[in-house]
Amino acid sequence: MRILITGGAGFIGSWVAEAFLKNGYDVLILDNLSTGKEANVPKGANFLKGDIRDYKLVEGVFSDFKPDIVNHHAAQINVRYSVENPIFDAEVNIIGTINLLELSVKHGVERFIFASTGGAIYGEPTKLPADETTPPVPISPYGVSKYSVETYLGYYRTVHGLNYTALRYSNVYGPRQNPHGEAGVVAIFCSRILQGKPCLIYGDGNQTRDYVFVGDVAEANLNALKAAGGIYNIGTSRETSVNELVSVLKKVVGKDFKTDYAPPIPGEVRRISLDIGLAKRVLGWSPKTELEEGLALTWDWFKEKVTEQ
Ligand code: NAD
Repeated sequence: MRILITGGAGFIGSWVAEAFLKNGYDVLILDNLSTGKEANVPKGANFLKGDIRDYKLVEGVFSDFKPDIVNHHAAQINVRYSVENPIFDAEVNIIGTINLLELSVKHGVERFIFASTGGAIYGEPTKLPADETTPPVPISPYGVSKYSVETYLGYYRTVHGLNYTALRYSNVYGPRQNPHGEAGVVAIFCSRILQGKPCLIYGDGNQTRDYVFVGDVAEANLNALKAAGGIYNIGTSRETSVNELVSVLKKVVGKDFKTDYAPPIPGEVRRISLDIGLAKRVLGWSPKTELEEGLALTWDWFKEKVTEQ
């Protein structure tokens, strides 16, 4: 089976590519390397540098590689940037995705797997953990673009019979995450600890997130190849505050490190966690990596990276 992975030179996409390769699938990665790195492309994967907004180029990829499955991870992922530049966000996240969807229909792709978001779609839900019936109220252009792609997926299935699975990720963390973005608190903290800089906590640190290890997310993508299509939350169903995260990280690092408190970020969600009951039942998936174990794997990777430099 041939799988086209967009964004496979990025953090999550490269883990997904690795999981597919390990299971004997033929993988082609399409990535413009805007935030991804060629060094992340796993051994055994084919790689093409290109932009999903370039319809002609993507058409060539579909004609030559003839994917059975499209696994779509390429995106503009920066929430703050999406607020500053909603047009660019929509060009990549909506128009780029429509290019892939049009070509998937044209070339008879069996299934389209989409990396969606739980964190940026549900807003501030009244009931936690939030399940998939929680009304979407995205409060950023990034959240709007992800939700609008889900709506397009519904259209492409109804009108063109394209089977799809949308995976609404919570906060994904792990080795290879970029510490230079605004998201990815674990990567940012690991990197700052290694530089001897204080970890910045916005607000009182009691805001909660649902942290899921990237290896578990890759496995959800693997299960999504065969299970029934639909929209699934991918997280842990657990809330962890930033203060709790810091204390587990201190245990993992084995020493104290400095934290500084900064004013809260306006518009930031206070509490979120995703109910993963549906993914358990239908995808046969549940996360296996406990927070402390996942943080240890991530910390070790960042430490090694610094030693290599
Ligand atoms: P990432 O930045 O590491 O990966 C995105 C990849 O897409 C990069 O390799 C980048 O070079 C590539 N890309 C960007 N624009 C492109 C374009 N126009 N054409 C081709 N390639 C392009 O980020 P990530 O954290 O690995 O995110 C992967 C996906 O998962 C994204 O769709 C993101 O929205 C989604 N997601 C991530 C999280 C998280 O916690 N990291 C949570 C929810 C959803």
